[in-house]
Amino acid sequence: MAETETRKMMTDPPSAPLYPRRHAPFRVHWNWYLLQQCNYGCSYCPEVEYKRTKTAPLPILNVSLDDWTRIWDRLFGLYGSALIRFAGGEPFIFPHFIDFLAMLTEHNAIDVTTNLSFDVDEFLRKVTPDALAISASYHPEHVSLGEFLGKLERLKREGFCVSAALVAYPTFLGSLKKTIEGFDRADIQLKLIPFRGKYQGRDYPLAYTQDEKDVMRLATQTRNTDGNVINAQWFREMVEKEEKRQEEIRAYNERRPDPSPPPAPVPESGNGKSAPPLCRMGENYAKIYADGTVRRCCCPGVPVMGRIMDKDFRLLDAAGPCDVPCLCWKPMKLGEYESRWETLWQGLVHRKHPLKTEGD
Ligand code: SF4
Ligand code: SF4
Repeated sequence: MAETETRKMMTDPPSAPLYPRRHAPFRVHWNWYLLQQCNYGCSYCPEVEYKRTKTAPLPILNVSLDDWTRIWDRLFGLYGSALIRFAGGEPFIFPHFIDFLAMLTEHNAIDVTTNLSFDVDEFLRKVTPDALAISASYHPEHVSLGEFLGKLERLKREGFCVSAALVAYPTFLGSLKKTIEGFDRADIQLKLIPFRGKYQGRDYPLAYTQDEKDVMRLATQTRNTDGNVINAQWFREMVEKEEKRQEEIRAYNERRPDPSPPPAPVPESGNGKSAPPLCRMGENYAKIYADGTVRRCCCPGVPVMGRIMDKDFRLLDAAGPCDVPCLCWKPMKLGEYESRWETLWQGLVHRKHPLKTEGD
């Protein structure tokens, strides 16, 4: 979609109350890629590419806690209680991140992806478990399974909703059975994320061998039935369907004369070409990048909607057309998966701001 078109949709007056959102998942999901920097340097991490290429990372946003409070109070006034998922980089190295979380959790439910290297004592002093989930990433190159599980179990005992994830990097698959047993004993969900990237010159996930795929399937047979469903879905979407997706991307790039500019304007329906699908990403979901820019989803090529710090920042008021290759395994395209949106987009709800649906 052309950028001017996106801006127009954002500035037209809303025709209906903005909260709850009119369609599942009935609230806004923000995915905030807060910073590129991390105190670890995992072999398989695309976020630390700047370290390998010796280029400077994007600077960390310099916004005071008072200004963040004003920005998020305004968004709460517009869209009500949202779910904000933090990722990066390591969010806990963002300046005063624990105080920032304490402010945000007043109104919003938060889910933080972290390597768990932060000061758990300070965290427990300042943040209550009312509205915060920890999605801990286990990185065996930097921490032992025992130390990692010990911290996570402590947070769980204090009332926080906790889960964990592990990248299915080829060198971790030999101990995967033992790792799964450890998480099962602690009764903590472990999500297995298929590795995307190069290892020993081979491109993953396409390069997984049959033996490796068989080991990965252990993650669909754990004690945690919800985790089994998620792992099975990721395996299907990110491993089994990868070949087909790569073909689609190749075909799209061949069609485009120059891949660097933003996508061409959306064709009008009725001109002989089929209209692009309408998607509610941008209405019910948005991704915030390290420099504050907001896009409707994570897929390359989607246009910028503004900056989260803009005084008049607005989400789309309705589904908008999209013509970029969709890499998302749970897009909000109209007519696709709609009956499953509510389940696919489940997440922590603020205890003091319960989730409202359109009928409430
Ligand atoms: S902890 Fe996460 S962000 Fe940091 S280097 Fe490892 S994978 Fe990357
Ligand atoms: S999820 Fe897919 S269809 Fe929706 S905006 Fe993103 S790329 Fe487009």
